[in-house]
Amino acid sequence: MAHKKVNLPEKTCQQCQRPFAWRKKWHRCWEEVKYCSDACRRKSKQKSQPVTPNLCHAGQVEDEF
Ligand SMILES: [Zn+2]
Repeated sequence: MAHKKVNLPEKTCQQCQRPFAWRKKWHRCWEEVKYCSDACRRKSKQKSQPVTPNLCHAGQVEDEF
């Protein structure tokens, strides 16, 4: 029937609480992605959380819209 667009999965950023959608660069680690951007990831780390070494490199690549 009406099938205009593939629905990408969404999550809520744990830092800024805003929803963000799946991105290609996260295709291998979507389960682990918690933040919409590198900025949010960094901010959350500054809070006191220990650095997680195998966290997805969510913000390693510049956002391409
Ligand atoms: Zn965010």
